[in-house]
Amino acid sequence: MSVPRSRRAVLAGTLALAGATLAAGDAPVGREPWPGAKVLRGERYVVIGHRIHSGLLADLAARAERARRKVAAVWGPVRPVILFPETDAGAEILAGAGASDGLAAMATADRVIVVPSGYARLSRIGRDVVIAHELTHVATGATRGGRVPTWLSEGFADYVGYSGSGLDVRTVAAELVREVRAGTLPDGLPGPADFAPGAARLPQVYEEAWLACRYIAGRFGERALVRLYGGPPPGGAGTPSRGGDVEAVLGLSPAAFTAGWRDYLRRELG
Ligand SMILES: [Zn+2]
Repeated sequence: MSVPRSRRAVLAGTLALAGATLAAGDAPVGREPWPGAKVLRGERYVVIGHRIHSGLLADLAARAERARRKVAAVWGPVRPVILFPETDAGAEILAGAGASDGLAAMATADRVIVVPSGYARLSRIGRDVVIAHELTHVATGATRGGRVPTWLSEGFADYVGYSGSGLDVRTVAAELVREVRAGTLPDGLPGPADFAPGAARLPQVYEEAWLACRYIAGRFGERALVRLYGGPPPGGAGTPSRGGDVEAVLGLSPAAFTAGWRDYLRRELG
């Protein structure tokens, strides 16, 4: 099943703002931010909508449960709280973030916030990927900032987001495929500035990060990827220890890790 071309751009934008949201801190919102909000409460999730059609809210609840299972399978238990405001401006207020242009969802420390216009433009698979991506940020504490390199937090969120999607690697990484087939391989893993909103190669940078995590899971196992991230903590609560040390966890120097990842890109995308 293919994904509409526009989805990647929206997804990339989503990820970028999630990073910006970190700096903005936690949004001071209550559990039910609107009078008369519709609340769908599952055994392990809460979905809250403001003037959202019942069918659309029920659809989001099903996605919340699927995303919860994906995150639990890779990382550990999480209880999604997902807010679906009526307008993009409402989403910005809830997230404590400045601009939601081109985004489909955002994450704060403890909840996922849908951005209505961007979310509406996503395919069904795209919606599942985005919700699971943002929920991964919540579960890992990524929105509290800086504990692991950006390539690892964004790549890991996409790793969980795309798990079980059935999408081919070349479909997900279409922009990077074009570059690699034209003979251009990235020199090194992307840094924080490469993920800034509006950065030139945003889709490719997310694909590079995703493929770095996929490479680690494929070669060393998924548990090694989770260990590299530093978590989850015992009992699944609290903040995990600092992660991102490839030498300690994978037994590879940073240079050897980068070389292995570049070989992997060549093999998978070339
Ligand atoms: Zn992200």
